[in-house]
Amino acid sequence: MDNLGRRVRLAAYILLTFSSLTTLFHILGGFEKELTIDARNAVYSSIDDSSQGGDTQSDIDFNGKAVKLNCDIGTQGKWPFCEISIDLAGTMGGLDLSSFHSIGIDVDYYSLMDGERLRVYLRNFDSVYSTADDPVSYKFNAIEFSPGLGNGMKVIPLKAFQVLSWWIADYQVPIEHSGPKFDNIVQIEIATGSHIRPAHYSIKLNRLVFYGHWLSESALLRTNILMWVLAAIYFLVAERRRLAERVRQMGAQADYLKQANKQLYQQSLALEALAFTDNLTGTQNRNAVDRWLRDIVDFSQRNCHALSMVYIDIDYFKRINDSLGHHGGDEVLKEFGRVLNLRARKTDVVVRWGGEEFIIFCPATNLRGAKEFAEMVREIVESYQWTNGLRITCSVGVAEHRPGEEIEAFIHRADNALYRAKQQGRNRVEVL
Ligand code: GH3
Ligand code: MG
Ligand code: MG
Repeated sequence: MDNLGRRVRLAAYILLTFSSLTTLFHILGGFEKELTIDARNAVYSSIDDSSQGGDTQSDIDFNGKAVKLNCDIGTQGKWPFCEISIDLAGTMGGLDLSSFHSIGIDVDYYSLMDGERLRVYLRNFDSVYSTADDPVSYKFNAIEFSPGLGNGMKVIPLKAFQVLSWWIADYQVPIEHSGPKFDNIVQIEIATGSHIRPAHYSIKLNRLVFYGHWLSESALLRTNILMWVLAAIYFLVAERRRLAERVRQMGAQADYLKQANKQLYQQSLALEALAFTDNLTGTQNRNAVDRWLRDIVDFSQRNCHALSMVYIDIDYFKRINDSLGHHGGDEVLKEFGRVLNLRARKTDVVVRWGGEEFIIFCPATNLRGAKEFAEMVREIVESYQWTNGLRITCSVGVAEHRPGEEIEAFIHRADNALYRAKQQGRNRVEVL
């Protein structure tokens, strides 16, 4: 696997671990938080209708744990009430409940009738509709419920709160600001319900808590998705870059090979121009190709090109000499060299290796290709119309150059193959 593949795997492992751990942490409640309202962060007081011309009487008692409001609802007021007022502005400068989802209230309500209802107000200050000198201008996020006696903690979602409609009307609050808002709660009120009848009441607040989470479920999901998407984008861009770089490199390599091939071709043409260095056969001789052979072996190795040789020896040449005389034998050798040169490809180099032995070097040709070529040469020699109606055959040894192999060893292998062809009856091709 390449470097990028390894990085993709590592990133996927890390992201998967992160997503799993955060999700598990969330399920186990690790992101939950609580804020308890008590004497350390709030100031308690009692409020009733006496300031509005009523005759309700109330007093508040704080015993260190619970806050208790005792209240005698009067008969004179238009809307009689009493309440525990919890001021947060002085201690907390307004409480931002944006990351909280519920309020928990443990309250005991001693009343004339069972099921008497309580009102809870979360009062939000916003300069759009509130002024500091008018406490009524603080938004009324309200809920009304029946707490009963000794029922313990009641958890109410903040979503259940509604803004009082008379307050919206009185303050002509524009519609976009008329919904519940909890980002700057300056006061909490726990008040007697509407239609309260004159009697003695007692509200005992045992505990008041807000529940929320450090990271909401949707924020966690968004964070996880964002991380995966960013990682995917990063790797797509990296992969694109890598491919572009590869294409560029391959282009450069192709250019280099094209150039090298051109040079090689020109070199082989130059060698062709040097032809007829072997006086008799019109092929090159051993010394003429020595340098070229070294170059082609080197080039083929560097560029992973195949290089093969076809080693040819005329069968029973001594007999030809015997029947035609040495001069006649020379003529046959000449003819033989011509036939080979005609059949060889442009990039092949035909060399008279000595006596009645010839080697054809075949660049960019693997063993299979060279063997086919050798077979073709053998057939041509066999079926060729030689002067004086002679029948000539040849034996051929074929070898492909092996990485790191010395030229001499390479030739030696082809020679061995040729020897095997002779051993096995001549007029045949052997490979080694
Ligand atoms: P085979 O290869 O099938 O085993 O038998 P051969 O008779 O061809 O092999 P051998 O190597 O015994 O003989 C080769 C002969 O080729 C011996 C030599 O006289 C002859 N020869 C070598 N060079 C020349 C040359 O330039 N001209 C002529 N006319 N004959 C040559
Ligand atoms: Mg021979
Ligand atoms: Mg020979």
